[in-house]
Amino acid sequence: MICPACQATLPAGHTCQSVWDELYYAQPLPAPSFDAFCMQHLDSYCFSAKSYAAHLTRLYIGVEYANDPKQLAAVQRWLNGTVSLTKPALLATVGTRTVCDVYLAVAQGQPAMQVAHLWIADVWQAYQPQHALAKEWRTLALNSFTGKSYGLSFWRN
Ligand SMILES: [Zn+2]
Repeated sequence: MICPACQATLPAGHTCQSVWDELYYAQPLPAPSFDAFCMQHLDSYCFSAKSYAAHLTRLYIGVEYANDPKQLAAVQRWLNGTVSLTKPALLATVGTRTVCDVYLAVAQGQPAMQVAHLWIADVWQAYQPQHALAKEWRTLALNSFTGKSYGLSFWRN
């Protein structure tokens, strides 16, 4: 069986969702793992423009800014407000590694954090055509936060 969303070859008796659930509850995974999973399963997790923006921007912050909690909080606040977003055209490919690769590697004794990092990096690389969009959304999120009591200059790099 092949996952129709991410094209993974599924372990017998599994869907990507059940693989994810089993992995997630079994051991710690790098923070952006769920966002990587979502960006490979768009119909389930990124149907709306807001959810797409949330997971793509969180994946970006996870990979490029070490999952900075202040930036993630800014994304959350930004998307809790009224925002007008356009969902971009979906990419033809969403990565060569999948949650099933992580699952199988872990079953063979490889460290989950390490193989999950490779998966996350691969997904982020696949989204290269939308890196500029992710940067734009991150900037919008951080700017939506200004004018209050926060000095944000140290975030802008
Ligand atoms: Zn899948």
